[in-house]
Amino acid sequence: MNLIDGKKIAAELRNELKVEVDEIKKKFKKVPGLTVILIGDLTPSQIYVRNKEKSAKEIGLKSEIIKYPEDIQEISVLNKIDELNKDETVSGILVQLPLPDHIDKQKIIERINPDKDVDGFHPYNVGNLSSGYESSVPCTPLGCYLLIKRTEPNLSGKKAIVIGRSNLNGKPMAQLLLKENCTVTITHSKTKDLKNECLKGDIVIAAVGIPELVKADWIKKDAIVIDVGINKTDKGIVGDVAFEEVSKVAKALTPVPGGVGPMTIACLLKNTIECFKRSLK
Ligand code: NAD
Repeated sequence: MNLIDGKKIAAELRNELKVEVDEIKKKFKKVPGLTVILIGDLTPSQIYVRNKEKSAKEIGLKSEIIKYPEDIQEISVLNKIDELNKDETVSGILVQLPLPDHIDKQKIIERINPDKDVDGFHPYNVGNLSSGYESSVPCTPLGCYLLIKRTEPNLSGKKAIVIGRSNLNGKPMAQLLLKENCTVTITHSKTKDLKNECLKGDIVIAAVGIPELVKADWIKKDAIVIDVGINKTDKGIVGDVAFEEVSKVAKALTPVPGGVGPMTIACLLKNTIECFKRSLK
């Protein structure tokens, strides 16, 4: 079994992006910038945002965090987004989710200029992705896609099974694989006989949130298996795939942690640079 080392591949990607940022600085005398809005004091969100800022700075991007208290009014956040949309030094805007209940997530997402939407959540980008046009792509599925392509460059005609249909993971993942001419099945909580669906997959992507749901006897011999899940359990963080047993049948498999996770932040940096390049057009 080939262990897909997301940590190493993400480090390589960050190095490539650093070179690109250096070239941009020389050529355009500008620095691509990422601005993150953080509302409230949820600990996981604070950790994510800090990691994003650290990684952005490491590759030479301008990085800024705007912090608001939990009870900030929605209109104040919308006004700030309007300001950032107009600010030429800001290439990418990210509003860290989840948001407090009194703030309408969709309203916030739709207010971000689609050209600065580094998360790829704006309906304009979602539509472009599903139409096969250039768009910002959500960071986690983009990271999974890059890992799959490194393992198997020619995906045409492969049968891909995506477990989970969230807007964050499953749906954009399916669109990316469709664009590569895979035959894609999206499965979810109401799918009948999930095991049998998975057994058809040359590629299986699990984005569910159930510890070790996918077992060895769900996986076709020599399939590529990508585990998006991050689940806290008594034995520590585990994915949605039973790693030990699946590693005996899969051709390639991502570990948790150290698989998809590191790629997510690297892809956020990639998206920020892509947004900067789009701003030049
Ligand atoms: P979500 O809760 O929004 O979606 C889960 C999906 O799983 C749903 O579409 C649901 O229909 C499906 N599902 C639920 N139970 C099922 C079952 N028994 N069989 C088949 N499908 C079932 O979750 P999400 O935001 O897409 O996240 C999924 C997992 O990925 C979580 O563990 C999350 O922590 C993790 N995640 C990891 C990263 C990363 O960077 N590695 C990023 C985002 C999310």
